[in-house]
Amino acid sequence: MLVFAIETSCDETSVCIMDHQKNIYSHIIYSQEEHSRFGGVVPELASRSHLLILQKITKEAFKQSNIKLKDIDVFAATCGPGLIGGLLVGSTYAKSLAIGVSKPFMPINHLEAHLLSTSFNNEVIYPNISLLLTGGHTQIYLLKSYKHIKLIGETIDDAIGEAFDKVAKILGLPYPGGKEIEKKATNGKIDSYDLPKPLIDNHNFDFSFSGLKTAVNLLCKKNKINDKFIENISASFQECVTKILIKKLENTIIKLKKQNIDIGSFSVVGGVANNNFIKQKISKVEDEHKIKMLIPTKEMMSDNAAMIAWACIKKYDEKLFNINFTPSPRLSV
Ligand code: ZN
Repeated sequence: MLVFAIETSCDETSVCIMDHQKNIYSHIIYSQEEHSRFGGVVPELASRSHLLILQKITKEAFKQSNIKLKDIDVFAATCGPGLIGGLLVGSTYAKSLAIGVSKPFMPINHLEAHLLSTSFNNEVIYPNISLLLTGGHTQIYLLKSYKHIKLIGETIDDAIGEAFDKVAKILGLPYPGGKEIEKKATNGKIDSYDLPKPLIDNHNFDFSFSGLKTAVNLLCKKNKINDKFIENISASFQECVTKILIKKLENTIIKLKKQNIDIGSFSVVGGVANNNFIKQKISKVEDEHKIKMLIPTKEMMSDNAAMIAWACIKKYDEKLFNINFTPSPRLSV
């Protein structure tokens, strides 16, 4: 079975051709760079770019793979959550191709695709806890199986990727901020500044990150902003965010154990899983709690169409084809 999948929910335009045996025949990810001068994604610009880029990379994907459009068995596209302009462009494009060759269309939930991404390269032991860490989301899910997914906690304000971007902006670093802060942090001292850890000991599984950027802002006003300061504050910020994530993850494992739910594995998914410092520190939970940590392949971490294709393959048996599905910016799992 061959799937053609599209991802256009934010500022990555991506297409993928994959079969049910996990062979990837083509996977193209185009990161729109025109947003960097605005310090964030401009939705109208993003949807216009998606339309232009999709036409180019779709042709390229079929050329690279030597597969014909009529050989595709099912077409899939992200239908939410995300920026509505991009979702409309991607899903309408995929639907049109499906209609053109009389094949079904499957709408895919972007968050579910992130959550299923670790099952592509790992044997997932359930129940599984997944930390979904992206520019738009910071959530904890409990997966009793890949079909039974429950949101158990999330950020009440900024998403983790958003916090990185905002702190980078305060420090005068370019957008996107995650990579820049990670780079600067490698030369900084993690204990230079004691930053707040909001909601770290609360009794539910929710996060809060907005106080961190306010604290960084105040420190910038009190200190001389030079390279050393930027390196030290980047290191302290990254350390603080990581400590929050680890504490929340451990609290969740312990709390679920008390409810007789013995976690078999935990996953870290989404673009922030690219951060090596965070990944390395969280991996200590694996040893301490004897629970396997799962990470997606590199190309399935940030927004990409391979995870959309894979979600379509995982859900294929459920036959959730729907050419009339209306994309929604606030679609939930
Ligand atoms: Zn995403």
